[in-house]
Amino acid sequence: MSKEPCGDCLIFVYMFKINTPPSLRFNHFFIFLFTISISCSLTSCFTWAARAENKLPAETALHKEYNYKGKIIIIGAGASGLAAAKVLEQNNIDYLILEATNRYGGRLKKDTTLADFPIDLGAEWLHSAPITLNKLKGKQGDEIDEELISYHLKSTATWDGKKYKVSPDWRNDFMYNFLPESKFKTSTWYDFVNKNIAYSVKHKIKFNSAVSEINYSGDEVVVKTTNGETYKADRVLVTVSLGVLKSNMISFIPKIDEEKKEAIEAISFQRGFKVVMKFAKKFYPDAINCKVANGEKVFYDMAFKKNTQFNILGFLCKGPEVNKYYDLSSEQDIILSLLEDLDQMFDGQATESYSGEFILENWGQYEFTQGTWTMAMQENKGRLKALAQPLNRKVYFAGEIYDPYKQMGVPGAILSGYHTIDYLLTDK
Ligand SMILES: Cc1cc2nc3c(=O)[nH]c(=O)nc-3n(C[C@H](O)[C@H](O)[C@H](O)COP(=O)(O)OP(=O)(O)OC[C@H]3O[C@@H](n4cnc5c(N)ncnc54)[C@H](O)[C@@H]3O)c2cc1C
Repeated sequence: MSKEPCGDCLIFVYMFKINTPPSLRFNHFFIFLFTISISCSLTSCFTWAARAENKLPAETALHKEYNYKGKIIIIGAGASGLAAAKVLEQNNIDYLILEATNRYGGRLKKDTTLADFPIDLGAEWLHSAPITLNKLKGKQGDEIDEELISYHLKSTATWDGKKYKVSPDWRNDFMYNFLPESKFKTSTWYDFVNKNIAYSVKHKIKFNSAVSEINYSGDEVVVKTTNGETYKADRVLVTVSLGVLKSNMISFIPKIDEEKKEAIEAISFQRGFKVVMKFAKKFYPDAINCKVANGEKVFYDMAFKKNTQFNILGFLCKGPEVNKYYDLSSEQDIILSLLEDLDQMFDGQATESYSGEFILENWGQYEFTQGTWTMAMQENKGRLKALAQPLNRKVYFAGEIYDPYKQMGVPGAILSGYHTIDYLLTDK
């Protein structure tokens, strides 16, 4: 089971990846609770995401005024780059967004063709407290405009490749109480960012402009793209994923220092993909967590609490397990392999009721993403600091991994955009 497939949190790992008899597992559970309380009191370690409401900033750059006179280039039109741009737009600052692909949103994407509700093909859950949505769009007060679904699962199971095991109710309740997540009921993460952030800045995006070089050796920063164009700015904000930085697709002149380089290499950004499949019948529970040594592999009901007659099953896989799928020769083969798993669990019901319609969003192999998501709370603080360090007060970095407020995913990316653009505009 995965109450929060994107969470990859320690409790998730503990509760679903141990392979011990039930009696022992019960003992493990209490030892685990004890460990949690000790760690929490010592390090306040579990105050992240939905549990980190008190870490949210009192105000963001959206509520400040800036009179910066230079020109700024933002690299990447994902949630983070768009958020930073919104601040520049509000303050009439000269800026341009260079985006490698022909669309904005980055790891946010939606589909409206497979079902009668919009489907998130990238980020899907709100791991943070609902009030965070107001913070992201700059709204004051506690009243939330978005209709949300509490992601409190009722029927879940685990699968180790041979044995299918229904999880007890108390575990589902515990998971929800530990990390009370939600999802948009009639909307998506893409819609949220589009409506509240992208709408005001999308006219400043230069699409199909993949940056290949950033030269910050002179007074101005010179940015080159793979299609031979050159742009100049006083300061540059880089918001590409960690995977893109790891790939060395962008050369920095002068070269970035060893500490930052080591951080880029060492911080984990696993490859992975999401599959959405349509079935005639709902033969599966709310979620099935499949046992993997590292990373995640989970089937989950994407239509959970949505107003729909459609049976839409999601599948998320990240980490070393993806190699098994990447070794297959086609998307069809991946689908067949998933159906095989499901048929084993549900006596052939998957193949029987499969509609033949699917979407496979392969984030781990997209040139301009190169992975799924990062988990800052699992990383070394020194490395995170080195990663975020600007270059010569000219090149700054923002995105999900740079979030100083202990949120995860999209909220982390947006808040990091606000935080770093504030730093860039005021750094003297
Ligand atoms: C399958 C999946 C599920 C997820 N689930 C959740 C979830 O449930 N909840 C959640 O909160 N988060 C989730 N996430 C994570 C979330 O999507 C990201 O944290 C967030 O979208 C990151 O935004 P960003 O702006 O930092 O980076 P990105 O979205 O990666 O944006 C970077 C942008 O830079 C562009 N770019 C890259 N290279 C270049 C270049 N050389 N030149 C110019 N432009 C370039 C890219 O095209 C992209 O538009 C999920 C991610 C994935 C992939």
